[in-house]
Formats: sequence, structure tokens, C-alpha cells
Amino acid sequence: MWTGRCLCGACAYTIKGDPVVVAHCHCLDCQRLSGAAHTTGAMFPEAAVTITGKPASFALTSDAGNTVTRLFCHTCGSPLFGTNTGMPGFMTVCAGTLDNSETLSPQVAVFARTRRGWDAMDPSLPTFEGQPSWKPPDGV
Ligand SMILES: [Zn+2]
Ligand SMILES: [Zn+2]
Repeated sequence: MWTGRCLCGACAYTIKGDPVVVAHCHCLDCQRLSGAAHTTGAMFPEAAVTITGKPASFALTSDAGNTVTRLFCHTCGSPLFGTNTGMPGFMTVCAGTLDNSETLSPQVAVFARTRRGWDAMDPSLPTFEGQPSWKPPDGV
């Protein structure tokens, strides 16, 4: 069981089970969204996530043509979740909002083509220039 919350505490969540994947994303949207050099997201089945409070949302169209919806706290602005119509049924949690993110193990880094030179990463991590054609496994 995972728990997490935004900076002010108006939005909180619990999640059952293990993440399907944990990824760093260096795309420019994630840099703007987070104000940092990359985001780290833990993807879970949407059904495993229970949210309390009412996050605000913002939707945009990705380069791949999917609708990406970002959920964030309406009071303090903390980014909390993302969904993508290219990955129906899944939700990505902004890893820094987890209460116990120390135990996460990122498996992959994507959109390395826009990684900033000052954003030093673990060189042993599988790294992709863009978005690899990865799909969540069935039956999760
Ligand atoms: Zn908040
Ligand atoms: Zn990104």
C-alpha cells in the first residue's frame, strides 16, 4: 500500500500494489510541468489509485497525438498524476509526492534527446532518445 499527498495536503491518495513501471522523463513538457530537469513517474493501474480531495486538471495533446491529462493540487499546485489516452487504464503518479518513494527503483529513462547537460543520470539505466514502443503488460 502506497500513500502520498501534495505539498499543502488538500489532495492525498492511496495506491494498492506495485508500480507497473517507474520511469524518468526528460521531455520538455515534463521539464515545464515540474520546474525541474525531469519528472519521475510510477505507473499504476488506475483502479488501484484512490484520490481524496479534488485535483485540478489540464489536458494537452502529446507529439504522438494522445491526450495527456495532468492532475495537480488546485491550492498548492503540486503535480500529482498524469494519464495518457495511449495507455488507457493506467495512471502515472509523480514519484516525489509518494510518502515513501525511497523504495522505488526507476527502470528506464525516456526522451533523453532533450536531457540537459546538468541533469546527470545513472548511466547503467536503459535510456531512450524518445518514447519507446512499450506497453504495460496484460493482466495487471
Ligand atoms: Zn496542495
Ligand atoms: Zn515527459
